[in-house]
Amino acid sequence: MISFRKRKAGEVRVYLGVDVGGTKIQASLIEESGAVRGRQKISTPRNVDPEQVVAEIEVAMKTVLKDAGLEFGDLTAIGIAIPGVVDPAAGRVVVTPNMNLGGLAIGAILSERFKTPVALGNDCNLGALGEAWLGSARNAKSMMSILVGTGIGGGFVRNGKLWRGAREAAGEIGHIIMQMGGPRCGCGNSGCFEALASRTAIERDLRAGIAAGRETVLTEILKGDLSVIRSGALREALAAGDTLVTEVMQRAAEILGHACLTVRHLIDPEVIVLGGGVIGACSGLVMPIVERIIDNDQLPGARDGGHVLLSALGDDAVVLGAVALACTQVGRNPFQKQYAVRPEYPQVVWRRFGEITVEEKGYDRDVYLLVDGRVKKRKSSVAMLPDGDSHTVGPEELEKICKGGPEILFIGTGESNQLSLNDDGRQFLRQRLIDCESLPTPAAIDAYNKSTRRKAALLHVTC
Ligand SMILES: [Zn+2]
Repeated sequence: MISFRKRKAGEVRVYLGVDVGGTKIQASLIEESGAVRGRQKISTPRNVDPEQVVAEIEVAMKTVLKDAGLEFGDLTAIGIAIPGVVDPAAGRVVVTPNMNLGGLAIGAILSERFKTPVALGNDCNLGALGEAWLGSARNAKSMMSILVGTGIGGGFVRNGKLWRGAREAAGEIGHIIMQMGGPRCGCGNSGCFEALASRTAIERDLRAGIAAGRETVLTEILKGDLSVIRSGALREALAAGDTLVTEVMQRAAEILGHACLTVRHLIDPEVIVLGGGVIGACSGLVMPIVERIIDNDQLPGARDGGHVLLSALGDDAVVLGAVALACTQVGRNPFQKQYAVRPEYPQVVWRRFGEITVEEKGYDRDVYLLVDGRVKKRKSSVAMLPDGDSHTVGPEELEKICKGGPEILFIGTGESNQLSLNDDGRQFLRQRLIDCESLPTPAAIDAYNKSTRRKAALLHVTC
């Protein structure tokens, strides 16, 4: 495994971005350019005191620093994303609906303990900031993101600044009312977007269908235990053509499409970015429905522009947004990219057909070069399919190659253009604003080495 060439502390500014989630705590070490140098994920302890959650956050932060040979003193600042309302000025959590962190002065505690500035923000707001900085909305002056998972959240960014609201509560798109008198929402109101189209709402509607006698492959996929229906199970059921799951998901996608219309009419952002677990897993069903609803907008003049894209950064959006916020807190503007020293990607050399080297290490088969500088061998089961599929690249493979959201993907097609993208693959890249250059492998390697952008590559080395 090769990653970015390590640089000494002081050579580049490094930050920690921490995403405190209900199930996982993710701490990532990130350069000022947005290059992710390391990440650590641990489970969030349940039913414990806030202090114990802080202790786990410290463990995650210390581990990722230690792995990189750094200390807290090497950090410029830390950004922390909280699933709730925060008071950034006081470094305090105000309320976390699904976690017990309310009232905790987490920013003040950590900044005192590690003598490092700490910035606090809402997780969905920071996810939006991450996409605006380096993801699908990087070219847009204004954007709104909508994240569909257990709940629904969002964020609005204009000219590199989050719109946080008068009470730090802006972007709560999950609680716009979309059905008067509709189902009760976790927030206490009824008919919220979240109560109609979140994974929690989808699970509720699926269970109601099953209780009414509908058959579904979910029973088989989840081996009879339907207490939690994760996005991956929804995706599997859709792929199997399950009619109940398809119906419920179509309805949720229609509601999402209408929420996008509302966003367009209300703030008219250049781009709307859709993300979160449900969208990540089911975009194949969701996107065409959302696009149809937007294309049918009847309000004069509202139809053109205002693209809907998918999240390019995935899981990294929130930690990158947290780092963007931390940068701002110490008086630096991450959106002015001349600040950032480019990460040092590994150098690739074409030796001959069937052999390349990455940082002197030889590879005699196809490889992926990921956006965080790591090298992964392309699975021989993909590369060696007898029916010729090894020469076609589709969304399943692109999902792996483009993890972390590169700006550009270089495809080395072999010595004589053996490899190509299929239509779904091209759509995958278009929907995430990932540029693509397909060239014979020696030329693709050359272009990859020269590019100073956030980049990834798929290199066809041998048949
Ligand atoms: Zn609500």
